[in-house]
Amino acid sequence: MNLKELYTHTSDKNLINSVVAKKIQQKKIPFNKPFITGREFGYIKQAIANSHFSGNGHFTKKCQTWLEKNVNCQKALLTHSCTAALEMAAILANIQPGDEVIMPSYTFVSTANAFVLRGGIPVFVDIRPDTLNIDESKIEAAITSKTKAIIPVHYGGIGCDMTTIMEIAQTHNLLVIEDAAQGIMSKEKNRPLGSIGHLGAMSFHATKNIICGEGGALLINHPEFIERAEIIWEKGTNRSQFFQGKVDKYTWVDMGSSYLPSEINAAFLLAQLESAELITQKRLNLWQQYHRGFAELEKEGKLRRPFIPNESQQNAHIYYIILPDSKTRTTVIKKLKSQGISSVFHYIPLHSSPYGQKCSYTEGNLEVTEDLSTRLLRLPLFPGLTEYHVELIVDLIYQFL
Ligand SMILES: *Cc1c(COP(=O)(O)O)cnc(C)c1O
Repeated sequence: MNLKELYTHTSDKNLINSVVAKKIQQKKIPFNKPFITGREFGYIKQAIANSHFSGNGHFTKKCQTWLEKNVNCQKALLTHSCTAALEMAAILANIQPGDEVIMPSYTFVSTANAFVLRGGIPVFVDIRPDTLNIDESKIEAAITSKTKAIIPVHYGGIGCDMTTIMEIAQTHNLLVIEDAAQGIMSKEKNRPLGSIGHLGAMSFHATKNIICGEGGALLINHPEFIERAEIIWEKGTNRSQFFQGKVDKYTWVDMGSSYLPSEINAAFLLAQLESAELITQKRLNLWQQYHRGFAELEKEGKLRRPFIPNESQQNAHIYYIILPDSKTRTTVIKKLKSQGISSVFHYIPLHSSPYGQKCSYTEGNLEVTEDLSTRLLRLPLFPGLTEYHVELIVDLIYQFL
């Protein structure tokens, strides 16, 4: 019996609920399913009709204005990925061979690669056991005469302690480049993530909260970087200044690359940005449901839930649980999989990866990173997920533990 038939036969809510629950149980629950607002196609059509669908057109400007207003940055430049935005930041920071950049090891490869491409050396610092963000109390010990920048990564869209990090940077004359790939719509002490450091990088990859397939943005919070950023963005030419009427022909003036997304991507992204509040609220509701659902297990010491500092306003990018050991994690992944539910662990710490071992330093031991990375498990979280799904996943994990 399908649901429509069921509704015409009965108004018994319990019966309907149990049938729905069973149907969900029979269906696979993916880890992530990109959310589409419905306006993307209309905007893409418009972008094509505009016949300007290379980069830096109408939709790019609209997205950038949205970001400047909502992230509260001086200038936003759309890029084809957060990786590209980080690479631009490394060029703007003038990273030279042998320069050191301080970052957590518990992050995505792009945080490190962007600097390695310029000859920089990632110096990994341990993370905090509560937020899994870089441990600000361990940063100073990692600073040497070669240090150029600190790269805080806001894990799961939960802000690092930016006040302390900015103070350290100021004392030692360092740049701060926020990896806010996961941070859209999040705040720390009422400051949007990506707007606090000198530069910030955001991602609109299909796995993030606000998406356009592949996409990102460089966020510039200090005006002295804007002109050069536009040049690096446009392949090392002063094309942007040419269009602004500031020069009468455009030419090669600096190093750069092709970091612009096409207008087709920007059109898709604008539809998403316009629904950012709604998307975030949907995610937050599900996040809260998981969080309430696991309260009891945390009290019993069976798992640990995410920690949100008081000064954080988060965007529900990830719901994770920290299990007692990696063996339990493997068992939970397998058991959920047998019910058609995908759950995944996260980063292999960069300092322990084959390439990381060749090109980086570590400051002190990274015991929190090494421990938590083997025990953290991410659960399905996306706007199309229902309360039934979350209830089912919580119930199953209760049974396993
Ligand atoms: C997703 C992610 C990136 C890379 O983003 P892309 O847009 O795929 O290049 C970088 N850093 C962190 C922390 C991320 O989560």
